[in-house]
Amino acid sequence: MSTPQSTPVFANYINGEWTAVNKTFESRNPANTDEVVGLFAKGTAADMQAAASAAQAALAGWAGMPAPARGNILYKAAEILEKKFDQLGAEMTREEGKTLPEAKGEVRRAINIFRYFAGEGSRMDGVMVPSERERVHVFAMRKPIGVVGLVTPWNFPIAIPAWKMAPALICGNTVIVKPASVSPLCAWRLVEALHEAGIPKGVINFVAGSGGELGAALVNAPEVKAISFTGSNEVGNWIHAEASKRRIRIQLEMGGKNPTIVLGDADLKSAVENVANASFFSTGQKCTATSRAIVEDAIYDEFLAALIERTKKLTVGDGMTAGIDIGPCVDQGALDTCLKYIDIGTKESGAPVCGGKRLTGGAYDKGFFIEPTIFAGVEPSHRIAQEEIFGPVLAVIRAKDFDDAMRIANDIPYGLSSSIQTSNLSRAMDYIYRAEAGLLTVNLPSAGVEYQLPFGGTKDSSFGPKEQGPAAFDFYSDFKTVYLKY
Ligand code: NAP
Ligand code: MG
Repeated sequence: MSTPQSTPVFANYINGEWTAVNKTFESRNPANTDEVVGLFAKGTAADMQAAASAAQAALAGWAGMPAPARGNILYKAAEILEKKFDQLGAEMTREEGKTLPEAKGEVRRAINIFRYFAGEGSRMDGVMVPSERERVHVFAMRKPIGVVGLVTPWNFPIAIPAWKMAPALICGNTVIVKPASVSPLCAWRLVEALHEAGIPKGVINFVAGSGGELGAALVNAPEVKAISFTGSNEVGNWIHAEASKRRIRIQLEMGGKNPTIVLGDADLKSAVENVANASFFSTGQKCTATSRAIVEDAIYDEFLAALIERTKKLTVGDGMTAGIDIGPCVDQGALDTCLKYIDIGTKESGAPVCGGKRLTGGAYDKGFFIEPTIFAGVEPSHRIAQEEIFGPVLAVIRAKDFDDAMRIANDIPYGLSSSIQTSNLSRAMDYIYRAEAGLLTVNLPSAGVEYQLPFGGTKDSSFGPKEQGPAAFDFYSDFKTVYLKY
C-alpha cells in the first residue's frame, strides 16, 4: 500500500524541540486501510537516551517550581485541547477505530484529567502529626521521584497517556512518553498541547517507535527512576524482570478476563444492556470489558435469548458514521486473535450462538470488522473462559447459584474489573467483599471508570500502586520526613 504525499509527518519531541525525522512508520485507519492517518518518526535507542538526558537536565528546575505553577501549565494545556476537541475525537476514530462518540468521550476524559491534576498542584498533601518529643515539629512532604518513563497501549490512546502524564508532571517529575505504535497520534497531541502551553524544555519528551526496540533503552537509561506501563502481561513481565535489576519503581497495568455475574433477581433489561455494552462497545477492546457472563441457572435461558436479540441489533462499521455501535478491531493482529479464539471456542463449546464471522463485502473489505460474538454453554475451564481475547467475543457460563457464580468469577489468574447484576443488596455486599478484582461495578457495565478514584487490578492483572485519583501520588511521589527541634 502506498502513502499519499500529503500525509502529515509527526516528529519526536526531545528537549523542547521537534527533532529531525529520518525513518518513519505509518499509522493507518483500521476502518479503511487505504487511509494513512500519519507518518511518525521511528525513534532509536539513541533518541531514547537523548530524551533521558534532557529529562534529567530539566528535573531540578521543574521540581523546584511551585506545584500550583506547574498546575497552571496543565490548565493551559487543557484549554488548548478543549479548542481542538472535535479534531481530536475525529483523529482518534480514524486512528484507533472506536466510534466518534466514544472517542469524544475519551478526549473529554483526558481534558478532565489534566484539570483534576492541575488542581492537585495546590492541594498536594503531606503528613503532619504531633511529635512524642517536646519542642519537636514533625512532618513529611512529597517530593518527585525523578525521570519517569511512560509506556502506553493503543486502546485508550489519549486517556491513558493523560492519566500517567498529568500526575507525573504535577508531582514534579520529568517525563518520557513511548506511545503505542498503532495509535501514537493522540499522545502526540497531548505533548503538542503541553509544548504550546509553554512547558519548560526537557520536562516532557516523546519518542515513538517499536516497543521491542525502544523498551530496553528506556528501562535501562540510568536517569530513569520509574516506569509506568499499561499493556500486555508478556511485556509487563519483561519490564518487571528488567527494571528490578536496577530496583527502579514500576507500575504495571495488564490483561484481564473480566466477569459479569447475572443473578436470577437482576433487572433483566438493564442486565442485558450492561452486558452488551461492556462486552461489545469499543469492539471489546477495553481492559475492563466483560468477556465472561456468568449467569444463574434461574435466569440463564431468558437472559441468553434477550442478549442474543440485543446483540443482533448492534451495527458494525466505520466509527465516523453516525449510528454505528461498533468499530473495527484495531489491526490485522487483533482481528486474527479474535478469529483464532472463535475457532478454539467452536471446538470447545460448539458454534457461537451469535456472530462469529469476519464481516466482508463493500466497505467492510477495507477494514478489520468482525461480528459481535457470543458463545453459550461455555465451561469455566475452556480456553475462551480463561484467556484474554481482547475483542468482541463473549463466553456465557451457567452457574448453579450465587456461590457457584462467585467461585467461577474468581477462578482465573486475572483480577482487573468485575461486575454483578442483582437487586439483592445482601448479595451485592457479599459480592463486593468476595470478588477478586480491583474495580467492581454493581448494576452497571464492568467498563466505564472515573478519574477521581483509584484505578487498577489485582492478581496477575496489575503490579504496583494504583493509578488515578489521589492514589496516583503513591507512585509518582515519595515522602521526605522531617524532625525539627525548635
Ligand atoms: P502491548 O503489546 O504490551 O503494548 C503496550 C506498549 O508496550 C506499547 O507502547 C508497545 O509498543 C510497548 N512495548 C512492546 N514491547 C515492549 C518492550 N519489550 N519493552 C517496552 N515496551 C514495549 O499491549 P497492547 O497490545 O498495546 O495493548 C493490549 C493489552 O493492554 C491487553 O492485554 C490489555 O488488557 C492491556 N491493557 C490493560 C489496561 C489496564 O489498565 N490494565 C488498559 C488497557 C490495556 P509497540 O506498540 O511499539 O509494540
Ligand atoms: Mg501489541
